[in-house]
Amino acid sequence: MIKMNDVWKAYPNNVKAINGISISIDKGEFVYVVGPSGAGKSTFIKLMYREEKPTKGDIFIDQTNLATLKEKHIPKMRRRIGVVFQDFKLLPTLSVYENVAFALEVIEENQNIIKRKVMDVLDIVHLKNKARSLPDELSGGEQQRIAIARAIVNHPEVLIADEPTGNLDPDTAWEIMDILDDINHRGTTVIMATHNKDIVNTIKKRVIAIEGGRVVRDEVRGSYGYEA
Ligand code: ADP
Ligand code: ADP
Repeated sequence: MIKMNDVWKAYPNNVKAINGISISIDKGEFVYVVGPSGAGKSTFIKLMYREEKPTKGDIFIDQTNLATLKEKHIPKMRRRIGVVFQDFKLLPTLSVYENVAFALEVIEENQNIIKRKVMDVLDIVHLKNKARSLPDELSGGEQQRIAIARAIVNHPEVLIADEPTGNLDPDTAWEIMDILDDINHRGTTVIMATHNKDIVNTIKKRVIAIEGGRVVRDEVRGSYGYEA
């Protein structure tokens, strides 16, 4: 369902971040993306939701080629892909409920449907009781769970997470991992860039290792493979 064919990305400053990657990821897979800092992990992930455009090569999400997708079709495509970041990116003046509802209000769902969908995803991340809170009133782990709820409220086919546990203590990181695993078991493909060696080596999944903008390892039940 996700396919990269000989993908290259050079930034305008001529940094060559991705240098000829071809991979395919099936529906329902859970994939860790690992590698040293500066290896190209974030760029690899940004290419998958058209935050960046490849310099060369094709990137298919099902039949949609992100490399040639017109600007006006990006919002519709983005609804098929949920994204979660290390720093949560919640809107600080909106309640938890409103942060999650936001993604549905832009597509003009009716209020009863929005309410049901928001409460359903808050249930999945075990935070229905925090619907009225502001992001600041929540712990880091809770904020990340809200960001995950927001990312999945449109039922995307793919959930992309760029270092989702990077700002969290180990126990909280495991809670986030449990939720991502649960979402994956409900049928969503999950792609997670991470430096969390313990998680990668304990909850065995496919591991794609990137170094110097190339795939240097791709293992079905892989390990982290680096010291830290
Ligand atoms: P990682 O996520 O593995 O740390 P990145 O994809 O962030 O790697 O970065 C890969 C390379 O691309 C690095 O050399 C980085 O400095 C460079 N880079 C990343 N983003 C940009 C950008 N917006 N403009 C220029 N260079 C960038
Ligand atoms: P449940 O009965 O399933 O727990 P509720 O409808 O009682 O769900 O709502 C739970 C929380 O969600 C309440 O704290 C409420 O403030 C919040 N909430 C529900 N709907 C909205 C809405 N449309 N706007 C803002 N907050 C809402």
